[in-house]
Amino acid sequence: MSRIAYVNGRYVPHKVAQVHIEDRGMQFSDAAYEVIAVLGGRLVDRTLHHDRLERSLSELAIDRPMRRTALDAIFDEVVRRNRVSEGIIYLQVGRGASPRNHAFPVGARPSVVVTARRAAPASAAALTEGVKVVTMPDLRWLRRDIKSVSLLPNVLAKQTAVEAGAFEAWQVDADGYVTEGAQSNAWIVESDGTIVTRPESNAILSGITRRRLIEVARAEGLSVVERAFTPTQAAAAREAFLTSTSSFVVPVVQIDEAVVANGRPGAITEQLRSLYIDFARADVAAA
Ligand code: PMP
Repeated sequence: MSRIAYVNGRYVPHKVAQVHIEDRGMQFSDAAYEVIAVLGGRLVDRTLHHDRLERSLSELAIDRPMRRTALDAIFDEVVRRNRVSEGIIYLQVGRGASPRNHAFPVGARPSVVVTARRAAPASAAALTEGVKVVTMPDLRWLRRDIKSVSLLPNVLAKQTAVEAGAFEAWQVDADGYVTEGAQSNAWIVESDGTIVTRPESNAILSGITRRRLIEVARAEGLSVVERAFTPTQAAAAREAFLTSTSSFVVPVVQIDEAVVANGRPGAITEQLRSLYIDFARADVAAA
């Protein structure tokens, strides 16, 4: 089956889908994006993704390209045309194409690209065995709260992790605290069962999975504290895990050379993963 992409008003075969060579997304990373999970052919937490997209666009002063309902119609059509039951949607909204000039162009139309692909949220091995993360300095800009396509430091961090045989890079700020992964949020569970993750600020992306998981965990009576932690605290934790739209909840069993607890995925992590999946199933069923 050939994949179909949406590009600036048209549905086109994925392999020939193109943007202009002077698209500002390409020349300046002048674009925001979203990744949304698809379950049972429907989008998980659609509204929160719309909210975050609109916030990113507003912080970047990029015009909203269309109403939510119009964007939703495109999402649903791309999912349908690609027959994605379980997978992800990728949306990129840029300031548009214009002769190269750093200052904002006058009158450029925002560019919109939507793709979808089938994917399982994390491999079976990652879930049953847990994954390794490596820590490294956070080299990124100070507006990590904006979901910008300016991802070069994240790409380099992830590559360093992969070359070290790790699943993810946990980036560490100048004060020695973990900010987040290259493409996920970072969490630990302390010895008394308290679940800890860094509070929202410009230091991290406000992950939708992070936000939703805090809510479902608290609703279940679990204790969640939003506080930064160091790699040393993480290595000494009872459990560790990461969250993202494309992986949901993944157990972390090694941080650099330190094995977390007994080196097996933790019970609270597994409980949180199943709570999140229950939420996601209910969310798409209600849509
Ligand atoms: N932080 C970064 C840097 C990310 O790229 C992502 C995933 N895109 C996340 C956190 C997790 O966010 P979400 O749960 O919305 O996917």
